[in-house]
Amino acid sequence: MKLKLIITSLSSCSGCISTLLTLDIFPQFFERTEIEYFPFISDNIEIYDCDIALIEGSVTEQTQIKYLKEIRKNTKKLYALGTCSAFGGIVSLSTKKFSQPISDFVEIDGMIPGCPPPSILLGNNMIRLIENKNIILDEKNMCSTCPLRYSLKIPTLSQVERLMPKNSDIDFPEGNLICFLKKGVLCMGPITRNGCESICINQGIPCEGCMGPISKEFTSNLVNFLSLFNINEELRTYEGIFYRFSKPKLKR
Ligand code: SF4
Ligand code: SF4
Repeated sequence: MKLKLIITSLSSCSGCISTLLTLDIFPQFFERTEIEYFPFISDNIEIYDCDIALIEGSVTEQTQIKYLKEIRKNTKKLYALGTCSAFGGIVSLSTKKFSQPISDFVEIDGMIPGCPPPSILLGNNMIRLIENKNIILDEKNMCSTCPLRYSLKIPTLSQVERLMPKNSDIDFPEGNLICFLKKGVLCMGPITRNGCESICINQGIPCEGCMGPISKEFTSNLVNFLSLFNINEELRTYEGIFYRFSKPKLKR
């Protein structure tokens, strides 16, 4: 019997669902499941009993809490799709709106993080879900597979003074791959979950942490991590760099 699915959004940019729709395996996924409720592409307005619900986006409105609870009541398994849903995401930097992860309101059975989730990670886990298996995430940090990791050993209290690398920082001649932190550029790789295949790093962009924290002890990890560096005053006052994707999960 085919698995019945709900796929829907709360407050989001639709980037996660768009990524889902463009996966190579999506047609196969469609063949092997029965989509019960997917407002993005169908007119069904009733929420029926189903096996799996994938929720994109964070909770920013009271009415979404009722909607979310209704879905939870009608599904056997419920997963957070993307970093907004899993951690509150980029919207949580707003000073006008609250933005909370769905796990603040309903029990979740897992998450597929990323902003949006990397295609390979998403595709592999979608296959696992339709085979009735649990989601698998890497338990290591970004540095564990980063192409710049061989130069990671950095003297304590090194100066970190920039968010964006200069052109000379991202000129990576072979054999001279130097970690961003060593160049004074903030990289959140050490406290960010691995799983994106270093998409940003490979393009010369330091990790901004969109895969979210590995551990629930993120606050202390973040504080410990930052205490290793001499971070300049200007960066310290810009809280977005530290809380960009996971602010609601942190104690302020
Ligand atoms: S996690 Fe990123 S891509 Fe997904 S809805 Fe949020 S902002 Fe958009
Ligand atoms: S800190 Fe960033 S650049 Fe350095 S090894 Fe880790 S992920 Fe790579």
